[in-house]
Amino acid sequence: TYVLAYSDLTTGENLLVTLPKDAELLANELMNLNVRELIVSTQFHQRVLRNHLESRPMTLSVADDINIPQFYRNLVAEIYEKSLLEAFGRLINYLLKTKKRELMHLQKVQVFESSQYLRIDNNSKRNLELTETYRSQNKKGSLFGLLDVCGTAMGSRYLKQTILRPLIDKNRIESRYSLVEDLNDDFIAREEIESLLKQVYDLERIIGRISFGNANAKDLINLSRSLKVMPQVREIVESIHNDYGCELVSKFSDLGDLCQLIDSAIIENPPLSIKEGGIIKPGYSTELDEIKSNHFDAKQWIEKFESDERERTGIKKLRIGYNRVFGYYIEVTKSQIELVKPEFGYERKQTLSNSERYITEELKAKEMLILGSEESQIQLEYELFVVIRDRCREQIEAMQTLARVIAEIDMLTAFSSVSIQNRYVRPELNQFRSVDVIGGRHAVVESLLEKGTFVENDLHMGDNTSILLITGPNMSGKSTYMRQLALIVIMAQMGCFVPATSVNLPVFDQIFTRIGASDDLSTGKSTFMIEMLEVNYALQNATSNSLILFDEIGRGTATYDGMALAQAIIEYTHHKLTCKTLFSTHYHELTFLEDDLKSLHNVHVRAKEEKGSIVFLHKVADGPTDRSYGIHVAKLAKLPLSLIRRSQAILETLEKNHGYNVIKPQTIDLFNYEIAEVEDEIENEKYESILEQLKEIDINDLTPLKAMNILAETVEAIKKLK
Ligand code: ADP
Ligand code: MG
Repeated sequence: TYVLAYSDLTTGENLLVTLPKDAELLANELMNLNVRELIVSTQFHQRVLRNHLESRPMTLSVADDINIPQFYRNLVAEIYEKSLLEAFGRLINYLLKTKKRELMHLQKVQVFESSQYLRIDNNSKRNLELTETYRSQNKKGSLFGLLDVCGTAMGSRYLKQTILRPLIDKNRIESRYSLVEDLNDDFIAREEIESLLKQVYDLERIIGRISFGNANAKDLINLSRSLKVMPQVREIVESIHNDYGCELVSKFSDLGDLCQLIDSAIIENPPLSIKEGGIIKPGYSTELDEIKSNHFDAKQWIEKFESDERERTGIKKLRIGYNRVFGYYIEVTKSQIELVKPEFGYERKQTLSNSERYITEELKAKEMLILGSEESQIQLEYELFVVIRDRCREQIEAMQTLARVIAEIDMLTAFSSVSIQNRYVRPELNQFRSVDVIGGRHAVVESLLEKGTFVENDLHMGDNTSILLITGPNMSGKSTYMRQLALIVIMAQMGCFVPATSVNLPVFDQIFTRIGASDDLSTGKSTFMIEMLEVNYALQNATSNSLILFDEIGRGTATYDGMALAQAIIEYTHHKLTCKTLFSTHYHELTFLEDDLKSLHNVHVRAKEEKGSIVFLHKVADGPTDRSYGIHVAKLAKLPLSLIRRSQAILETLEKNHGYNVIKPQTIDLFNYEIAEVEDEIENEKYESILEQLKEIDINDLTPLKAMNILAETVEAIKKLK
């Protein structure tokens, strides 16, 4: 096995993951966790990762110290497995060495079994556009983009994690449904929660900074503002009377004292720096207040000094200034320099282009006093602040729990508002292996189309159907239909409602998707070889509880080659895997498999012909497609008519022969003969289109000018006919 110890220093989250010894799985997990730096032992074969992580920005470091320091043992108190402890030891030692400070905010290590979550391999994550779009890597247009109406940063982060790792524990999933449902029913409570959460800052980040010792006064103010919202959140959640909701908020600790401390000590709008004073409220520390009042007197003194000096010297524009280098000074503009008399006792300090700066004995003496008090004020404020920050640090664990609960409430509230807005329904989970979707929609495509234009579709796969063979012309909606099911499954297992009229699903353990090569060409990466590797990965790893989407497999190679492979893959999946598989293909020849494969069922996406073009209905119906639309599309693209007719003839022969029996090419004579015939036909079509246009004229809607124009056009068109 591989053991992965993971730490997010900004939030303090720690994980231990055990994985089968498979480089792809490992790479997958590293990407899931968005790992920036990987620490391995000297013995680790680094090349196993190279192929998988080539383009990822990840630092690889080597460290061998694996003994967990005493101070951090409590983080792994309930873990006994040596390999797990070693992995965490390697990580923590490396962190301590490189961060060079104590890491107070590290949370208890969670042991994560990949079998506790719905596993979605990397390809599927990309293909299904879970967290970003395939082409432009945008959040907008992804499932994450659609669902993320979270009020807090913690909620958004948690949502993203949940999308990549949906649950498989039926009870946990259903607890989430029940809270979402109750939030749906009580929209006042939901809206109140939403508006409260908007006032909550990124607690996890603030906690991280508190632990690192680089939180500033603003962070503490934001912490206090966030904490103050918690009792209200708790109250509202409790008012919904949902078991799961109550269980969640019961984990809140009362941190009112901490809020009170922060509020009594730190001003509303503190500066970013904690080393320049101006942080602590009056009334918090008598010592500070005393120093400050001296400081204030000094300021008053300076004002008085300025007006006294103006009077004494008669220099009206004289003023007292301050800078860091020279301290306090008296400034006289160039035009009034002559007025400065030796008896004033002014000592020149600095000459500027417009003025001279002086000091006097008296000013200098006071300056020491003023600056002295300012310095001790800043120093004292800093010390007071650090004490408060340390008090916060003592509550880190309670705050982390709070942050986690808030993240979950936030996410479920987002589920509720998205569900209401888009008419999602609560899925039902069954213990059998039957899938029943009525009126299903693709959540993201639907949201991008104009309201009401997305065509709903059903999907039924009973206990004894394992393969749905989906045929239909290009652009009819096969891929969308397949992805739609995957998204519904993922959303359902996240605990979210789903876009459909009703949904009944088993709990899946893994999802695999393979998209045929030519759908993938834009990336330039995918070759037929990669496609086959991926098919193999799915065939090797799928269990009877998995979901496989094979979209146009075999498209990337020669027709018969591809068709042969597609058929063999279908047969293999049918006999050996028995998991739910959606297989789309434009080889409608494969639909005959239904006759012999008992668990295979044909469906097709309908299209119809209208006025010489294909209209895509995007509607899925039982049975195979009745025809191939390729030739039709070629006709729409205005290929030579003689060629189109020839291809129709070849197709007929092929269909009669059930296969490719080398059809002799026709001679040029035949083509020429046909061309003449075709030309006649073209003339005919033109003539008919003129008639067609005339028929469409509405006499009542005709002005004399329009009538003249039509007449001119018609005459022109007739002249062009042979
Ligand atoms: P195929 O895989 O059969 O070539 P796609 O699934 O890629 O077809 O769909 C082609 C286009 O049709 C997509 O751009 C999509 O927006 C649209 N489409 C697909 N299914 C639907 C639907 N159910 N309702 C509305 N539009 C759809
Ligand atoms: Mg497709």
